[in-house]
Amino acid sequence: AAKRQGGSTFAVFEPRMEHDTREELALQTELREALARNELVLYYQPKMDARSGLITGVEALVRWHHPQRGLVMPGVFIPVAERFGLIGQLGDWVTEEACRQLAEWRSQGLRMRAAINMSAHQLRQDSLLPRLKQAMENHAIDPSQLTIEIIESVLMDDAAVRSFSGLASLGVGLSIDDFGIGYCNFALLRKLPVKQLKVDRSLFTDIQNSADARSVVTAIVQMAHALNLRVVAEGVETERQRDTLQALDCDEMQGFLFARPMPAEKLTLWAMEGETPAEAGGFRPSLFM
Ligand code: C2E
Ligand code: MG
Ligand code: MG
Ligand code: MG
Repeated sequence: AAKRQGGSTFAVFEPRMEHDTREELALQTELREALARNELVLYYQPKMDARSGLITGVEALVRWHHPQRGLVMPGVFIPVAERFGLIGQLGDWVTEEACRQLAEWRSQGLRMRAAINMSAHQLRQDSLLPRLKQAMENHAIDPSQLTIEIIESVLMDDAAVRSFSGLASLGVGLSIDDFGIGYCNFALLRKLPVKQLKVDRSLFTDIQNSADARSVVTAIVQMAHALNLRVVAEGVETERQRDTLQALDCDEMQGFLFARPMPAEKLTLWAMEGETPAEAGGFRPSLFM
């Protein structure tokens, strides 16, 4: 940051900041190479129907298999991709790869649905719709098999919101991610072609001990159901959270309790074996659709 002192301008770097900047520049260069060298990989985490316990679909979560750094998480490189204009390319790769994987699952007899995450920046790009359409065509994916997850704050971005109707007219599902921790615009929510709300885990971490937390989740579920939206509780870690959320009428659940995000081959085995993980209680993953 530059700081004005006594009329002259200094660039004041804190050691930590300078380090971050260099780190980001390095990451940026490496990310460009990674995109070219195909070092990104999608992990998949199942979403479970809260009543039947069946898998309703998977969420694709991007990771970077870095030759030196190991597995790098999206929280580290998505902001870098956005800052340095790489998010469009990264998003295109994610879309294409998710469609390719859906086609591979189909060839294995698994008819899956997948959700992909998109940032406001991606929604603002004119190329979004044609690219998405192309990816679905390339792999003969039905739009009903795809859901786009968008974080709540996107609702404040007019240009991004405008692309919602285009997405909906393609036939893909729309989901509001991290719902309840940002700015909720109920007027917009009512008008938008959104089908699903994903309640952020911070709203129910202590739900079994907190009447307030239960009230908040109850209110969200009632509001969502009144608007014909499905509610997904994301980040469910304990059986007590699961039981409470189930009692409060959440429609779907996702979280470490059921399964961690995993590479496609692992997810395939998990779904095909239909084994109930010990910690998953009454939930039984199985084929669907
Ligand atoms: P998100 O879309 O809200 O994804 C949920 C995050 O919570 C994931 O972190 C997931 O691994 C984690 N999670 C799942 N179950 C649990 C649980 O029971 N407990 C806890 N503590 N965490 C759980 P991840 O994979 O690190 O992704 C972080 C964020 O990065 C995502 O949040 C999403 O906003 C973004 N992201 C991931 N993949 C993409 C992508 O392909 N494109 C874009 N634009 N963003 C992405
Ligand atoms: Mg998400
Ligand atoms: Mg989320
Ligand atoms: Mg999140």
